[in-house]
Amino acid sequence: MAETVTAIERELLRSLPSIDEVLNREVAKRIATAAGHRRAVEIARTACDVVRDRIAASDPSLSSEVLVEVEIVVKELWGRELRSGIIGVVNATGVVIHTNLGRAPLSETAKRAIVERASHYCTLEYNLETGDRGKRGFRAERLVCELTGAEDAVIVNNGAAAAFLVLRVFAAGKEVVISRGELVEIGGDFRVPDVLTESGADLLEVGTTNRTKLKDYEMAISERTGLILRVHPSNYRITGFTERPQVADLAALAHRNSIPLFEDAGSGALVDLAEFGLSEEPLIADSIAAGADIVSFSGDKLLGGVQAGFIVGRKDLIESIRKHPLYRAFRVDKLAYAAIEATLESFVRGTHLTEIPVLQMLSMSQEMLNKRAESLKERIFSKAGDSIMMEIIEGESVIGGGSAPDVKPKTWLLCIVKAGMKPDAIEKSLRDFEIPVIARILDGRVVIDLRTVFEDEEETLIDAIASLAN
Ligand SMILES: *Cc1c(COP(=O)(O)O)cnc(C)c1O
Repeated sequence: MAETVTAIERELLRSLPSIDEVLNREVAKRIATAAGHRRAVEIARTACDVVRDRIAASDPSLSSEVLVEVEIVVKELWGRELRSGIIGVVNATGVVIHTNLGRAPLSETAKRAIVERASHYCTLEYNLETGDRGKRGFRAERLVCELTGAEDAVIVNNGAAAAFLVLRVFAAGKEVVISRGELVEIGGDFRVPDVLTESGADLLEVGTTNRTKLKDYEMAISERTGLILRVHPSNYRITGFTERPQVADLAALAHRNSIPLFEDAGSGALVDLAEFGLSEEPLIADSIAAGADIVSFSGDKLLGGVQAGFIVGRKDLIESIRKHPLYRAFRVDKLAYAAIEATLESFVRGTHLTEIPVLQMLSMSQEMLNKRAESLKERIFSKAGDSIMMEIIEGESVIGGGSAPDVKPKTWLLCIVKAGMKPDAIEKSLRDFEIPVIARILDGRVVIDLRTVFEDEEETLIDAIASLAN
């Protein structure tokens, strides 16, 4: 018996194709065209190794068509390589600012701006009126000033860079007074105490975790104080017996002592989002009006644009940041400026709720979500029949991006069940679809939340779910 198996194996091993034979097949030729000859050779060689190992291990699923088996592996390896890069996915999780899925999807105008305004030669640092060097970011900065009422603004790579830079410029070698309730960690790798230490500032914590009074700050201020720091505890809520001073009171205290008040607003909001339950996100314009000297916030959270960190505030302070050598290391590129300008233009026009996907999603009514879920269910049924069981249940979406953890917009979820298929397997199968569909598992069932699915993605979603029937 053992000898027969060995004989078959020997036969299969003999029919293993040469690398050249594999390279002559259509699949490998396509890889060579896309990725170059050397990559195609590497993949062909790996595929032959994989099949050789499977023969040696007497893999029962292996057919006698060895070349075909190698081709299948070649295709798999190449597919896996492509999918290890950045590719578009359908976000069916209902998490609006999904950090792992690139946070905010861009508005149509922002996408167009990247391609049309900035992807060729452009006026990044060129003044068309004078024909001389112009100021990088000039218009984006003017727009954000208009929207926040700040005197000046500067834009860097992300919110973390913004906070770090402000601390570095104004508090290196000095003390930063901060409430114990605001020494938070955001998203696992932004920890306020660590950022402070790295910036060269000394942390001076005041008050308690739940209650910090103006007097606590007042008693901590000395000639060593560089600034007062206020951090929005984005992803964390202290409720119950709590207290923290108003921005206006902190600002007055800072100014009596001739030091600046810096607020890291985290996500921040350019417009009032209270009607969507987001009443606790600091309105940047309010902070500026209340006297904060510098406010920083992210570009790709509730603002709904690209990764960026905005620093707005007093002209003289912003100017010192712009002149600091580290600004050069943290500045953003032309693609980001183009997208930022277009995103801010939507707010200035007042069309943000219909144009900016994050805000569109937040403002989507539960009634609309129910209608879309019903329609999706019918369309899947007409494609896949009753081999896929579906039910629409009430549920909650998530804001995400380390913002507003206690705000959970009501939604309708489409539950997907298939006899003989575990939820994990369904979730993976959707993820393995040509255009990956990212779903959520809730109480042992795969659920689809249409809040974060664009209408023009619904066909893909239907195809992906219907393919489970096969
Ligand atoms: C999100 C956040 C940051 C970091 O901003 P990124 O744009 O993610 O770098 C910093 N501070 C607060 C309070 C935040 O919420």
